[in-house]
Amino acid sequence: MSDVRNVIIIGSGPAGYTAALYTARASLKPLVFEGAVTAGGALMNTTEVENFPGFQDGIMGPELMDNMRAQAERFGAELVPDDVVAVDLTGEIKSVTDTAGTVHQAKAVIVTTGSQHRKLGLPNEDALSGRGVSWCATCDGFFFKDQDIAVIGGGDTAMEEATFLSRFAKSVTIVHRRDTLRASKAMQERAFADPKISFVWDSEVAEVQGDQKLSGLKLRNVKTGELSDLAVTGLFIAIGHDPRTELFKGQLELDEEGYLKVDAPSTRTNVTGVFAAGDVVDHTYRQAITAAGTGCSAALDAERFLAALA
Ligand code: FAD
Repeated sequence: MSDVRNVIIIGSGPAGYTAALYTARASLKPLVFEGAVTAGGALMNTTEVENFPGFQDGIMGPELMDNMRAQAERFGAELVPDDVVAVDLTGEIKSVTDTAGTVHQAKAVIVTTGSQHRKLGLPNEDALSGRGVSWCATCDGFFFKDQDIAVIGGGDTAMEEATFLSRFAKSVTIVHRRDTLRASKAMQERAFADPKISFVWDSEVAEVQGDQKLSGLKLRNVKTGELSDLAVTGLFIAIGHDPRTELFKGQLELDEEGYLKVDAPSTRTNVTGVFAAGDVVDHTYRQAITAAGTGCSAALDAERFLAALA
């Protein structure tokens, strides 16, 4: 058992590192669990980031995260490349257990564990991420000007991504494994009315093709088993996200989709002294800058909470 810290931060994306920077600069000496294999968060898996303010010519995702990490460390954040495997958040002193079984204690905890986009589970999918395969139209749509794009999914997110992408793309093909959409009526109507958008029904992706860059898809009709080719240079996978909240079930209040609930606009969870920020809370925006923004809010909320204890 270690000494009781002021604050422990779980997660190391833009939300976690920003919370670390702010709490470190407030002399709170945060202990940050960065995650064992995914330290740096979602942007470690991408190439160019063009929409994080301050980088006129864009910046590579891993470089941006290395900079955030170094900036937090410079002010005294203690960074540990390990997973938290258990938490006890209910009492005044919170406990966090690492993979070696060591229990760390703190008066405040900030949760920034992010969310995981659902994958198709196909061999080439990860290799071509950032090379034609994307999970975020807001982030990457601009790279696909005048190209033929496929969007996979049938919910609101897929319709939103498709209608957004049709502004840039030559064509957008929505591939859905059923013959009706799950999306709201309004979103469906917007997609149906868009002349650049067409649909392939009852179909799933059988193969993501390409060597260095995406060159096309092999589709399978789920009713007939028939295979067909779709020549696209962009693939947007919009089949949902899973917030990383398994650890907190039964302790922190989650919404029906498993995201942590906070008392917005604050970052307070339903448990005193526990704050949450970034994509683990956010259904809507899911951007690096919004995660960093709420990470800052969580740090300030934790700082005020700790000051009131003193
Ligand atoms: P994350 O970045 O997901 O970080 C959370 C981290 O928490 C995890 O990586 C892991 O290390 C850690 N963690 C989780 N569980 C534990 C645990 N139990 N113990 C310890 N650590 C844990 N946004 C943009 O603004 N611009 C872009 O161009 C852009 N491109 C993107 C490209 C891709 C391929 C993807 C996937 C996303 C992209 N995004 C982009 C979205 C952006 O990356 C996310 O919105 C942002 O990273 C969310 O930050 P976060 O800090 O909430 O979570």
